[in-house]
Amino acid sequence: MSSTPASKPSVVHADDTQASISVSMPEYIALDKWADSGFEWTGQVAPISFERLATQLTTEHEQPELQIEANLYRRNNVLHLAFKLTGEIWLSCQRCLQPIAIDLTDDYDIALLDDDSQVRLVNNEQDYLLLAEVVSEQTPERLLPFKNLIEDEILLKAPMAPKHDDCDMAVEQFGEIPEEENESPFAALASLKGKLSE
Ligand SMILES: [Zn+2]
Repeated sequence: MSSTPASKPSVVHADDTQASISVSMPEYIALDKWADSGFEWTGQVAPISFERLATQLTTEHEQPELQIEANLYRRNNVLHLAFKLTGEIWLSCQRCLQPIAIDLTDDYDIALLDDDSQVRLVNNEQDYLLLAEVVSEQTPERLLPFKNLIEDEILLKAPMAPKHDDCDMAVEQFGEIPEEENESPFAALASLKGKLSE
C-alpha cells in the first residue's frame, strides 16, 4: 500500500533503493498539528531500528522489514493511535537457541486520554494511556512518541521466552510417553535443562 501524499512527513524517498535504514518513520507526531486533522503514516521499518527491540533480535537470521499503517483518529472525542503491523521478527528459541519467527501481524489500537475522566469513554477492553504520561509538555508541539509507542506494543506482543512449538513437543507433548512417566512436566524439564533456573 502506498503512502498518502497529503499526510506524508517531509522526508520522502524518491526511489526504492533505500534498504534497511528506516529514516522515514517519524519518531514523534506533533499533536498540535495532527491531533485533529487525521494523521496517517504508512511505511516499512527495519526491526533493528527499534533500539530496545534490537537487543532481543537474533543475529542468526535476516530481519525483514515490518509494514506499518498508522493513523490518529477520534472516537467519543477520545484520541486514538491505531496501527496495523504486518510482518515478523526473529528471536532466539530459549530451548534450542535457533532462530524462531514471531508473527506481529495484528491490528493495534491505543486510546490516548486527556485525563482519567475519559476512561469512562472507552470500553473495558480498550488499551489506553494518559497523554500527560507520554507527551512531552516541554514542547509547544506536544510531541507524541510515535515510534516508541509502536515499539512498546511490539515488545508486549513478543514473548519473553520464545520457544518453537516443536521444542515444546519434545518435552511436554509426546503422545508415546506412558502416563506415569509424564506426571511431572517440570521434572522432565528440570532433568533436560539440569536445573530449574527460573
Ligand atoms: Zn527451539
